[in-house]
Amino acid sequence: MLPKRIAIASIVFLAAGMFAATAQAKSSEKPAKLVVALHSSDGTDVGTATFTEKKKSLHIHIDAKNLPVGTHAVHIHQVAKCDAPDFKTAGGHFNPDGKKHGMNNPLGHHNGDLPGNLVIGETHTGTVDFTVNYLTLAPDAANSIFANGGTSIVIHDHADDMVTDPTGNAGNRIACGVIIQ
Ligand code: ZN
Repeated sequence: MLPKRIAIASIVFLAAGMFAATAQAKSSEKPAKLVVALHSSDGTDVGTATFTEKKKSLHIHIDAKNLPVGTHAVHIHQVAKCDAPDFKTAGGHFNPDGKKHGMNNPLGHHNGDLPGNLVIGETHTGTVDFTVNYLTLAPDAANSIFANGGTSIVIHDHADDMVTDPTGNAGNRIACGVIIQ
């Protein structure tokens, strides 16, 4: 009867594992997806940023319109405020680990830094996708985009050079979206 005992033991173990997984998903209570509206300095709708939680990473999709042609930096900033026209109230880059700016900076990078720029073409539209393992929607995590009352996503006038502290030489803030739970 040994094979039967092993089979029963396996079923009990599997059931316990499923229960544990369910309990964990409930306690974290993180939303799987968040869509943030983006607005320019004069209040124009310039598109959306969609955040989707993956198993061990956060996917960010930006679908932009009505923006100037060119290459634009995108960052997560530390304050959940987007006061036009300069969006200065969004604060500096989200930086819970106290690092320097830039994906290519040996002393970096901020958690708010993203590995690429947004390219806006002749139709004044553009999209970009990022998948990063240093941000999350899990509300209680230090690297959560909901930390300390939320954050914001900011699009800049110029490209991020990925190394110059603290802003990547990205210039003025031209669009912003508040990230709150
Ligand atoms: Zn930065």
